[in-house]
Amino acid sequence: MQDAGLEAHIDGLGNVYGKAKNVSRTVLVGSHTDSVPEGGWLDGALGVVYGLEIARVWNESRAGGNDGVDVISFADEEGTYKGLLGSKAFCGSLGDLDTRQTVNMAGRSLADALDEAGLDGRTDIKCDPSRHMAFLEAHVEQGPRLEVEGAPIGIVVGIVGIRRHFLKFRGQADHAGTTPMKMRKDAGAALIRLASNLLRGFGDNGAAGTVWNIGNVTFTPGVANVVPAEAEFSFEFRDTSGEVLARLDKLVDDSAEAWNRDSPVLCEARRIFAVEPVAMNSDLATAIGAAAKRCGVKTLSIPSGAGHDAMVVAAHLPTAMLFVPSIGGRSHVISEDTAEADIVAGAEVLAETTRMVLDGETGVMQ
Ligand SMILES: [Zn+2]
Repeated sequence: MQDAGLEAHIDGLGNVYGKAKNVSRTVLVGSHTDSVPEGGWLDGALGVVYGLEIARVWNESRAGGNDGVDVISFADEEGTYKGLLGSKAFCGSLGDLDTRQTVNMAGRSLADALDEAGLDGRTDIKCDPSRHMAFLEAHVEQGPRLEVEGAPIGIVVGIVGIRRHFLKFRGQADHAGTTPMKMRKDAGAALIRLASNLLRGFGDNGAAGTVWNIGNVTFTPGVANVVPAEAEFSFEFRDTSGEVLARLDKLVDDSAEAWNRDSPVLCEARRIFAVEPVAMNSDLATAIGAAAKRCGVKTLSIPSGAGHDAMVVAAHLPTAMLFVPSIGGRSHVISEDTAEADIVAGAEVLAETTRMVLDGETGVMQ
């Protein structure tokens, strides 16, 4: 960051911030540099390196003005301790976090990790809307759509909201050989019927971009020669529209209710997780499109099916995301990669978008 002409800071949670010197208005560019275990080299880090390069170029070519480029690397986006930890702290939306009670998979506390890293007690770096005009986050797509369409640049229209429902069936365990079919209260068969109703119902009622899956199923006692007494599964779905998500929430509840009207096996459905979708700033999205056109590269408007720091920052700053293609759609694996030409195209388009914001060529106010 210092080599790029920035003033480098690290805060009490590990957020790293490169602050442009002697300016009062900036575009904030960045992402995260942590990864998942055995993750790839681009997830997160690419967006930070883009920020560094854009800041370096800006400082070399446009120094002396009142505006510049700040760079951020958010800590623990992936949630080793807590998902989106750094961006939530940056935006003041972390709430009361007890770092002693916040532990990783090995049971180690965040407080100990911060202490060992020498970060404990450092001042937090804060989002400053009077300084930060916009936040731009570039990221690898982590899916196959850009590659399939042959578009080097994805303009993210929004980040999907997520719903997770837990459905539990209560029947009765009986001998699988001696109990006549009509007398059974088979929780397993009930689960399979209702689950297949839901899968069909989502096909009919979901929007074009809705995705859904059954991630896990458990039968109890779970042996071949006993009629299942209990069965449970979780059903997850995602969409960029809050309206669509609400409609599908109702579909799950209505399906369970309808089931209970005429089955001796009772179904209990609970929504256990909900994240609302986040729209990206449309002026900035338009600017990415114009920048790409100027750079001569094809774009595709797509939703983000994964969560990103941008979804936290979007509540506080005009925010946009740009995607570059993931080869084979693969990410969160060591083989994750992006063609070099696409990496270059992403840098050029993001740099041009940043320039457009700083030069007042977008709808984002200076
Ligand atoms: Zn990421």
